[in-house]
Amino acid sequence: MKYKTTLPVDEKGFYGRFGGAYIPEILYSNVSNLKKAFAEAIDDPAFISEVETLLADYVGRPSPLYKAESLSRHYGAKIYLKREDLNHTGAHKINNAIGSALLARRMGKTRLIAETGAGQHGVATATVAALLGMPCVVYMGATDVERQQPNVQRMRMLGAEVRPVHSGNKTLKDATNEAIRDWCCNPADTFYVIGSTVGPHPYPEMVAYFQSVISREIKAQLLAKEGRENPDYVIACIGGGSNAAGAFYHFIDNPEVKLVAVEAAGLGTDTDMTAASILTGTPGILHGSRTLLLQTDDGQIIEPYSISAGLDYPGVGPLHAFLAESGRSKVLAATDDEALAAAYFLTRNEGIIPALESAHALAGLEKIKFNKDDIVVVNLSGRGDKDMSTYISHLEK
Ligand SMILES: *Cc1c(COP(=O)(O)O)cnc(C)c1O
Repeated sequence: MKYKTTLPVDEKGFYGRFGGAYIPEILYSNVSNLKKAFAEAIDDPAFISEVETLLADYVGRPSPLYKAESLSRHYGAKIYLKREDLNHTGAHKINNAIGSALLARRMGKTRLIAETGAGQHGVATATVAALLGMPCVVYMGATDVERQQPNVQRMRMLGAEVRPVHSGNKTLKDATNEAIRDWCCNPADTFYVIGSTVGPHPYPEMVAYFQSVISREIKAQLLAKEGRENPDYVIACIGGGSNAAGAFYHFIDNPEVKLVAVEAAGLGTDTDMTAASILTGTPGILHGSRTLLLQTDDGQIIEPYSISAGLDYPGVGPLHAFLAESGRSKVLAATDDEALAAAYFLTRNEGIIPALESAHALAGLEKIKFNKDDIVVVNLSGRGDKDMSTYISHLEK
């Protein structure tokens, strides 16, 4: 299978005015080696075939495209769910972890590091590290270590070392800072597996590419089910933007497909308890790239808030800042309560417990007026096992 790389990105990693590689000098050669190795790898049929084989036999791809009849009746349109929740390890993160770890091995790297928020990316990286026999260190904010215990235990069982991070808000941003610090200290043997379409170029492009299998499959599955490749809407939740990038990728050049990104509003986009960085952020530089950020007038990061640990990030991938600013994507926001209601609605009507992150995408369905023949694909980025304690505590209220 031949991939195409058609993102609107230039040589230096800019999507319009967003992106780039704002990194300390010590990382220059690392980043330029990575850029070269990535470009060569995706041109090499042997590498692509390795990735494809693991995606099929290990992850269980293609993930189903499921026509949700109850949701379709309720919303008055044809609603399909792209079932990334059925992947091995329970979310889309494994798609990128497989591609990145195989690239690391090809580059002769012997150690993997990762940052994680909800723990899904940490679990995916620890999983692939076990598979390939590589040592793995996962940085995780101390707050997240507390609230995501099942995933911490999974990483430890897989043989990874979980290092709690005690700086800042003790969440994803702080874990990312520590991972970057580690990478700076160990540039020769270490490969940094970033969990979203963030970080310095080429990471946003590379992670989007490894996730693009999602939209490639949607095209083929819709053609078989509906006789056309292109839906009217693709809806995805957006933290750093990797599941949305994967779901949008092959539709970016099809303007008739409406791309909808749903951010975490937290308690509301008009409060300071939010993680909606596109809708309420301003341009600035974080983790090596220029993008939209939650920050004060003098550039201090404002701690984000969302009920969902995976969406609790003060920035967004530069691709999404660009797609939103250029009008190619539409950005909505769902509050904690709207996400919880959408999660319960899906569970009670379709028998699927979604991740809290994915529940934000489902909440987006409430905010759009559909025509009855519209074909709508919601990317169900992950399953809800890790969120059971949050769900149960709200059920009992
Ligand atoms: C990590 C995660 C997200 C948010 O990350 P993106 O890079 O924006 O996709 C969304 N859903 C699930 C299930 C996740 O684990």
